Amino acid sequence: MDLTEATDIRVETDRRTAPERSVASRYAKKDRSGNEISASDLPENDLAANDLIALWERGNGRSPTEKALLALTYGRKRELCDAVARWPIGVRDQALIRRAAAIFGPITAAVTTCSACERPVAFDIDLQGMGAGRAAGRRPLRFRYAGEAYDFRLPNSTDFQALMTVADGGLAQHRLARRCIRSTATRTDGATADASKLPKGLLKAFAEAIEACDPLADIRLTLTCPDCRHRWQEPFDIVDYFWQALTREAHALLVQVDLLARTYGWSEDAILSLGAARRALYTEMILS
Ligand SMILES: [Zn+2]
Repeated sequence: MDLTEATDIRVETDRRTAPERSVASRYAKKDRSGNEISASDLPENDLAANDLIALWERGNGRSPTEKALLALTYGRKRELCDAVARWPIGVRDQALIRRAAAIFGPITAAVTTCSACERPVAFDIDLQGMGAGRAAGRRPLRFRYAGEAYDFRLPNSTDFQALMTVADGGLAQHRLARRCIRSTATRTDGATADASKLPKGLLKAFAEAIEACDPLADIRLTLTCPDCRHRWQEPFDIVDYFWQALTREAHALLVQVDLLARTYGWSEDAILSLGAARRALYTEMILS
């Protein structure tokens, strides 16, 4: 599987013509009917209770990339799925952050352990703040290494799907660079790429360029320990966060289905089509 050059060119065209637009819409693609598909076209929450359970069931056991694409495009047209798979990772994750905020709530309390004193540290995961208007993009998409300029495009879900079976992290990094850097110096067939051919410095420069152009591709939370004042960065994985929240939600819904079905003899469909407030009230009455 490889990416089309046409997709890459379109990304840059959009970046040039709409500098004032949001990050996501800069990477908008066209569907087959010529309409633009961008992150703003995705409804933030159009999932009913039975959709949430079906999405959870369908994504179980899939790779993180597949889970991310499913979470954003479940029940949507094929054109949309193809377009989302070609959004840069940070753009895709920004849409996922917004969807998680709409479905599961914008702020979640979390606890981690201080990496210095090992005491528990409570903090809030603020999805609304995280997903709001982070500037991305620098043009042209180019970095320099050893006096030479390299044009590149940002990695997307299609890249990660293609590299899913590459177990060696170093080799995957090389192949990703070869897929994304548009330069004759690095252009070889990914399947036969020799890991030793790309210098480490070039890979480092490429990684730094991605970070500068697509900041939401690698989200880090800055935390401070209230006890020892130690300050550090914790990686945040929105796909993992989304899937954990979805799993909790699906389990809670199925517990309600079990309880209401046993008590009233209603079908799963009938229970899930009740409003959340009514379902909660019936549950409360049974348990009181
Ligand atoms: Zn501490």
